[in-house]
Amino acid sequence: MKNPQSTTAPDAIKKQVCDWIDSQRDLLLGLSHGIHANPELAFKETGACKLLVDALSDAGLDVTTPAGGLDTAFSTTFGAKSGPCVALLAEYDALPDIGHACGHNLIATASVGAGLALASLADELPGQVRVMGTPAEEAGGGKEIMMRAGCFEGVSCALMVHPAGFNIGAMPCICKTDIIVTYRGRASHASAAPERGINALDALVNAYQSVAALRQHIRGDERIHGIITDGGQAANIVPEVASGVFFVRSPYRKGLERLRKRVQACFEAGAQATGAELEFAWSEVDYLDLRSNQPLEEAFQANAESLGRDFIPPESMAPMMAGSTDMGNVSHEFPSIHPMIAAAPMNVSIHNRAFADYAGGEMGDLAALDGAKSLAMTTLDYLYSDALQGRTQNVFEHSESR
Ligand SMILES: [Zn+2]
Ligand SMILES: [Zn+2]
Repeated sequence: MKNPQSTTAPDAIKKQVCDWIDSQRDLLLGLSHGIHANPELAFKETGACKLLVDALSDAGLDVTTPAGGLDTAFSTTFGAKSGPCVALLAEYDALPDIGHACGHNLIATASVGAGLALASLADELPGQVRVMGTPAEEAGGGKEIMMRAGCFEGVSCALMVHPAGFNIGAMPCICKTDIIVTYRGRASHASAAPERGINALDALVNAYQSVAALRQHIRGDERIHGIITDGGQAANIVPEVASGVFFVRSPYRKGLERLRKRVQACFEAGAQATGAELEFAWSEVDYLDLRSNQPLEEAFQANAESLGRDFIPPESMAPMMAGSTDMGNVSHEFPSIHPMIAAAPMNVSIHNRAFADYAGGEMGDLAALDGAKSLAMTTLDYLYSDALQGRTQNVFEHSESR
């Protein structure tokens, strides 16, 4: 069956998985709509996890859940152990208040749909497929936690697709960390005995202003943004406690480390200036930049184009129209892709209420099914093509970690 020169799988087998997805349209869209109708936040995606695990189990697959110590994670592997292993990653967490405005119901349906389609011909596959449910992308970094727990052991490459207002080979992506700060001062009557107080809010406001001043002297492609979550207890009490949360973003890991030190100095300055004590906690999981694997990205794009989708060139995106994803972390350890597929018109961006409507509507349905087909076909290309495996690994090993 294999052709040593070709970088694609035989057309007939690709057609087989696409036909299977069309024949199971109701089942797959049932998953998408079920998740969409019941938005669940990071680490609390019990309903979504159960829906997906049940669908995989009903197809006869042996599914492990919880996985990696996460209650709402799952993993199932099938196919020939003699070949490489392609991981298909499913996200399904929603956003506070605005539901599935990031369309993760479509990500789940695309990856699980591709997995089910490939499982329908598992005996013929020249390698393995691992379908993984990776919770908490919006907050918490489920994929990083699962990597640390060994859930990715034996994986050769990792694929997923994210919805957007356009089709693109790789999501523009930057590194992100966050810090929670709390200042502890001393309460006192704000009028009768201010001299006895230590003002925690002053500490935080000084730090906030330091961060604001720092912002003028960082790279144009870096970002710092934050909020005050606790500004004191009453106006006639010198604030005893004040807290805030700040995000710090930079295109690459080394830059993030440099910026992290400069931001921390701002918070230390607030404590120094006021005598309040500073407590801080940097996030346990930083989100890293996306090292999109070019050969896999090209394979995905060609497959999605074969379904009639038009891709926009990456250069057409404004450089700072970038978000952050824990798929970035995966891409540093394994050859990975995180393309985007149109599930809404160009002018509707993710994390927007209108996007949530599209994610549950007809454009979302089509994106979920095309996403499943494109992922399944790309998995087949990889498993059937030694040449694509070689190019993928070669590019991964030679791409620079910055
Ligand atoms: Zn999001
Ligand atoms: Zn998302």
